[in-house]
Amino acid sequence: MLFPATIAGSLPKPGWLSETEKLWPKWKLEGEALDQAKRDAALIWIKHQEDAGISVVSDGEQFRRHFVHGFLESVEGIDWQLMTKMGIRNNRYEAEVPTVTGPVRRRRSVHRDEAAFCRAHARGGLKFTLPGPMTICDTLADAHYGRRADMAMAFAAILNEEALELEAAGVDVIQFDEPAFNVFMDEVNEWGVAALERAARGLKCATAVHICYGYGIKANIDWKGTLGAEWRQYERIFPALNASTIGQVSLECANSHVPMSLIALLSDKQILVGAIDVATDRVETPDEVLGVIEEAMKYADAERVQPCTNCGLAPRSRAIAEAKLNALGAGARLAREKFG
Ligand code: ZN
Repeated sequence: MLFPATIAGSLPKPGWLSETEKLWPKWKLEGEALDQAKRDAALIWIKHQEDAGISVVSDGEQFRRHFVHGFLESVEGIDWQLMTKMGIRNNRYEAEVPTVTGPVRRRRSVHRDEAAFCRAHARGGLKFTLPGPMTICDTLADAHYGRRADMAMAFAAILNEEALELEAAGVDVIQFDEPAFNVFMDEVNEWGVAALERAARGLKCATAVHICYGYGIKANIDWKGTLGAEWRQYERIFPALNASTIGQVSLECANSHVPMSLIALLSDKQILVGAIDVATDRVETPDEVLGVIEEAMKYADAERVQPCTNCGLAPRSRAIAEAKLNALGAGARLAREKFG
């Protein structure tokens, strides 16, 4: 099928599960009640996505507080008492981050049971997202490895163990989120792509990397204001990604200053084209989604274009996220009617 719609990853959490419209929401329940509520929330979002016509659905990251720390909470070698204040994404914002104090190791499978639960309920394609090694390392303080590249390779190895388990649980697409790729372009070419490939080693399911300009929060919107009339960060990293083993690249397009022509650099990849702006409550029309798809088709064959959201919708309200999912699915249908 042409133009299978998918989402970058996160969706808002219902008000009975956690605080809302926050990137680091506090849970409202605990223990078994919390586990049950997370499953209920994932189930609702799988249903909404499928009803909206999203071909490859995700759990909406209902099982984790935040896309990076959800994974790290089950990793040994990280001291959560030793919080370090650090400027992350090259000092775009300050965050209190935990500190790596020894070799990292998974204490147990992190998301396998959650993926199996989603697999049992999703009728079509299922995507699961993991933080990428470079972005993990940009969200942690290091008191053990000494070199960021070495720490990234260590995380890539445990991400790979996790990814192989998710694949075995029936996940169709494993996506690594690497917003840090748009910030540390030299390091991407030196070791970032190599670490990503290490994380995806041996996977037979589809693999993806999501590289955006961040959630629609104020620090990111302010940062975007400093990037000038044309955002050409992708130009420096797409050649290495196109030469990599990763199959799909998810990028930000709608309402951004990214020239669509840059996707011509991804000539060997499936391209997840951001057709939904996550930084605004204004809901796109299906025709606007179609417009983004048509723009992408100037630089990529229709078979390689998959409409997607620019980034996660976690910080928005449920109603807005539902409306945006509907617009995305409807836009993909319009494109199939026109070009199918
Ligand atoms: Zn993103």
